[in-house]
Amino acid sequence: MIRAYIAIGSNLGNPVEKATNAIDALKRLPDSTFISCSSLYSSKPMGPADQPDYVNAVAAIDTALNPLDLLDQTQRIELEFGRERKDERWGPRTLDLDILLFGDFQLESERLTVPHYGMKVREFVLYPLAEIAPDLHLPDGSTVAELVAVTDKNGLTAIA
Ligand code: ATP
Ligand code: MG
Ligand code: MG
Repeated sequence: MIRAYIAIGSNLGNPVEKATNAIDALKRLPDSTFISCSSLYSSKPMGPADQPDYVNAVAAIDTALNPLDLLDQTQRIELEFGRERKDERWGPRTLDLDILLFGDFQLESERLTVPHYGMKVREFVLYPLAEIAPDLHLPDGSTVAELVAVTDKNGLTAIA
C-alpha cells in the first residue's frame, strides 16, 4: 500500500456538505484504506475573485491502486458530485479532488503530475496537510512544517 494525500475543494452548492460527502466517498475508494482527514477550512478563492469562498480539506489514504487508477477514481467522484468541466481556469466548482502526493513518487504525464505542482505554495493545501502530517517529507526533502511556516494564511480559517 502507498500513502497518498488528496486535497478537497468546493465552493458551490453547500460546500461544507459537498466536502463532507466527498470525504465519505474517499472512505469508499476501492483497494484503499482511509487513514485520516483534516478539519474543514474556509479559504479565499484563487484566480477569479468574483466567486464564493472555498471549503478545503486534505485526506490521507493508503492505496493499492496505481496513480492513474486513483486519478480515474477521484475524477469519477468529481463527476458524481456534478462537476462540470469549464474553460475558465480556477473558476467555481462543486468539487475538486487533487492528488497531492503519492508516496515518494514523482510523476509527470499528460494527465497527472505528482507532487501536485501548486501544493508547496497554496495555504489551503499546506495548513490542512500540516494538521494531519506535519513531519511529512516531500520527494524533494522539504517538510510540510517548513513549508507552512513560510506561507501566509491569506484569510484561511478552520471551520468549527
Ligand atoms: P489546479 O490543478 O491548479 O489546482 P484545477 O484543480 O482546477 O487546477 P482541474 O480542472 O481539476 O484543475 O484539473 C485539470 C487537469 O489536471 C485534470 O484533467 C487532470 O488530468 C490534471 N492533473 C494533473 N495532475 C493532477 C493531480 N496531481 N491531481 C489531479 N489532477 C491532476
Ligand atoms: Mg485544484
Ligand atoms: Mg483539480
